[in-house]
Amino acid sequence: MNSVTENMTCTFCGCLCDDITVEVADGRVVKAKKACANGAGIFKEYDPSPAPPLVDGKETGYDEAIAKAAEILNQAKSPMIYGLSSMAVEAQKKAVALADKLGAVIDTTSSVCHGPTGMGMMEVGEATCTLGEIRNRADLLVFWGCNPAASHLRHFARFSMTPKAGLNPNGRKDRTIYTVDVRPTPTAQKSDHFIQVAIGHDYEALTTLRALIAGKKITQKEIAGQPLEVWQELAERMKSCRYGVAFMGMGITMSRGRQHNVSELFSLVTELNKYTRFSVLPMRGHGNVAGADQVMTWQCGYPFAVSFAKGIPQFCPGEFTAVDMLSNKHADAAVILASDPAAHFPVAAAEYLSEIPTITLDCEVSLTAKVSKVYFPTACYGVDAPGTCYRMDNVPIRLRAAMEARRPTDEKVLTSLIEAVKSC
Ligand code: SF4
Repeated sequence: MNSVTENMTCTFCGCLCDDITVEVADGRVVKAKKACANGAGIFKEYDPSPAPPLVDGKETGYDEAIAKAAEILNQAKSPMIYGLSSMAVEAQKKAVALADKLGAVIDTTSSVCHGPTGMGMMEVGEATCTLGEIRNRADLLVFWGCNPAASHLRHFARFSMTPKAGLNPNGRKDRTIYTVDVRPTPTAQKSDHFIQVAIGHDYEALTTLRALIAGKKITQKEIAGQPLEVWQELAERMKSCRYGVAFMGMGITMSRGRQHNVSELFSLVTELNKYTRFSVLPMRGHGNVAGADQVMTWQCGYPFAVSFAKGIPQFCPGEFTAVDMLSNKHADAAVILASDPAAHFPVAAAEYLSEIPTITLDCEVSLTAKVSKVYFPTACYGVDAPGTCYRMDNVPIRLRAAMEARRPTDEKVLTSLIEAVKSC
């Protein structure tokens, strides 16, 4: 049946653009109006045809596949659940319930992107805001270690650089924009000022800004690859703006300093609020990675890297993070939820994953799905399955479906697994 559905949500990135018009013809999406080049693929490349589960690569009935998956998990002494960021909140909650019942480790893709952001936030808190406030009020934007011109293609037009909205009636002209990064990027090209920070020296630069804002005297002439005057000018701009925002990305979370870089930036932003309004917003990648953090935190107390092995949630990045669980050969079975660690993890971790029995739920046939003992093709959230997601600013967005699902949802498969496995 052909149809047109308005106000659909694109789940490719953390912007969760919810103004997409989706046209369906002959059971497939043929047009996704307003979706950017990154997002259009989510709609158009997904094949929603019914697909049976696979066990050892062979088509199997749903109940038989659930029974096989339960057998694997019941035999495992140290099962691990990983992924979660590309599925709806309703399924994420089931994933945590499954981990709890199995006494498993559960980790999300945050551990390989913004995990340090969560850790920095635990140390010093986070002065945050919504993308709507940024669009309407912010007159100073600082993009630090992120490149939305390549990763979040509609961010500038919908939320940050160019919208004519609120206190910024002239759009781009009303905003001053800085990019701080280790190399020139497309985002830097669109900015008024680019500061090239020396690789691995973000912490030094952020500490310098904190010292300058606190009025401390600095005698060093060059810091983090730039003359002191460059940091003095940025500090003055930050103090004197009407409403500033720092967007931060993996350039600081995954470089030297990691969570210490984050806590330094978050502290800087908090201190700026003595002089003006200033907020910080992590540039979240996967469509519902912010939802994964929310669900994990409200159900376990921690955003990622949690073990239920002792009957209570225990948090330990470096031990219960999926890369470490696999590299150290601590997991003896895995449930992979809508992610592809076989393709993206370090070689030792990916190789070990292929040696242990793995159960994968994914709407796409990923490399991990191909090497799994049991694979459940599931419906795609935001295309043929509704659900709830959290935007990068932690605003929940309700997803519509453009067609009726002919595959089970992630939530349904996880519910079946919870019913089929024994309590640890
Ligand atoms: S910016 Fe992100 S959410 Fe918006 S259409 Fe592009 S990929 Fe989708």
